Amino acid sequence: MTNLKNHDPANAVNADAVIIGGGPAGLNAALMLGRARKLTVVIDAGQPRNAVTREAHGFLTRDGIAPFELRRIAIEQLAPYPSVSHIEDTVISIAGEDGAFLLETASGRKITSKKLLFAAGMKDRRLDIPGLAEVYGKSAFVCPYCDGWELRDQPLVLISRGEALKHMAPLLSGWSKRITVCTNGPDELTEAERDELRAHEIPLFDTPIREITSAEGMVNHVKLTDGTEIPCTGIFFRPELAPGTDLPQSLGCRVSELGILETSESGQTSVPGIYAAGDAVTMMHQSIAAAASGALAAAALNGELNREAWNAGLHNSSLSSKG
Ligand SMILES: Cc1cc2nc3c(=O)[nH]c(=O)nc-3n(C[C@H](O)[C@H](O)[C@H](O)COP(=O)(O)OP(=O)(O)OC[C@H]3O[C@@H](n4cnc5c(N)ncnc54)[C@H](O)[C@@H]3O)c2cc1C
Repeated sequence: MTNLKNHDPANAVNADAVIIGGGPAGLNAALMLGRARKLTVVIDAGQPRNAVTREAHGFLTRDGIAPFELRRIAIEQLAPYPSVSHIEDTVISIAGEDGAFLLETASGRKITSKKLLFAAGMKDRRLDIPGLAEVYGKSAFVCPYCDGWELRDQPLVLISRGEALKHMAPLLSGWSKRITVCTNGPDELTEAERDELRAHEIPLFDTPIREITSAEGMVNHVKLTDGTEIPCTGIFFRPELAPGTDLPQSLGCRVSELGILETSESGQTSVPGIYAAGDAVTMMHQSIAAAASGALAAAALNGELNREAWNAGLHNSSLSSKG
């Protein structure tokens, strides 16, 4: 636990906000709420999806930073705000309602909170192609905006099919024209869509993938079950995703067919008092976008707290009791 100043979150009888998840979304939300003088507890299980990567790209002033270094700096910069605490733990259950939520963590902490902000990200369901786990985050990636520059003009294999392939093939061609598509089973394309790939000189294989071979995390071949070997130095693929936690659904928050938490533009979920931000609320998975949505959700949450205190005539006494 990073205990910021003398505040012990285990004894926080009633936090203003608990943030579940301490990635870019949760930590930026904590910064906003700390500056807004709200008693805030960030609880983070420390297992972000990008833990496999060595560098995070595309974040203003931090291009190429190690993802855990970004988090370390963010936590360090919460230190001046005495009303914010950061706990390494996992929230396992939540009960209650707006104004009085009760959270329980894996280590047995019980914390009450007026509001909740979910920033628990997404997680990969499984990487079921032999050899893929070895290259994931080193030479196999999910997003060309994050890692396309490093693989520009190189021979790439795109593992994708159907609608995702129709989106990814033209997108990825902006970084390299040397693309081979492996659909790892039926391609789910029409003949016209296959013709389009041929017109762009993109070979298409629908034979299942036997394995991905590599040395020290750097892919060298994608091998198919019919013996075909496709040489390449990079892979892009789309893993099946699941929400970082199912707790919002258990509290009644609406989730879209794609598994995305439904929120207003300012991060309010369908349940009063519960906000959400980051990868869990969008298909565009980028650290800077997650951080921005954390800031927006925190501002909306804080505005609601201030309005409630104002209406209750408690505004001044509430401020005087906090850091
Ligand atoms: C391979 C890969 C490479 C990437 N590269 C880049 C890049 O170069 N640039 C870029 O901008 N983006 C990149 N991304 C995307 C980036 O990682 C995400 O957009 C960003 O981390 C999302 O931030 P977040 O705060 O929403 O969630 P996360 O960073 O995933 O953090 C969520 C946190 O919530 C915690 N959590 C979940 N459930 C609970 C619970 N019940 N209790 C407590 N804590 C919980 C998790 O353990 C995790 O620590 C990459 C992603 C991947 C997979």
